Amino acid sequence: MKYDRLDKFGVEKMGAADYKKKQDYVVKNCKCQKCPTYVAGDAPVGYCFPAIGTSKKIQWEKDCICGTCPVYKEYELNLTHYCTRCSQFCQTMKIEGPTATGA
Ligand code: SF4
Ligand code: SF4
Repeated sequence: MKYDRLDKFGVEKMGAADYKKKQDYVVKNCKCQKCPTYVAGDAPVGYCFPAIGTSKKIQWEKDCICGTCPVYKEYELNLTHYCTRCSQFCQTMKIEGPTATGA
């Protein structure tokens, strides 16, 4: 596997500057603004990325188009509705519980 199973964006070993760079890249390439679930004006998008957090405006889940996003493909993401359910890392932790880290 190309990326760490939990830390898909590889942020754990990243300094602040690289972290910011990666976050900007994700937000810039994010497709959420074209999604039926998205609520106009919500920002920042890129909800799959660890530090973005869930949306303050989106309450109702419709379709999720993350599967069509270049970021999703590039980082081998495998979940949906990051805007309401939390980031890739956060959802994986919720699904797998404490065993996710191998602890
Ligand atoms: S995977 Fe989804 S949340 Fe993440 S950048 Fe792409 S469209 Fe946005
Ligand atoms: S995370 Fe998925 S459901 Fe939410 S706005 Fe982005 S594409 Fe749509």
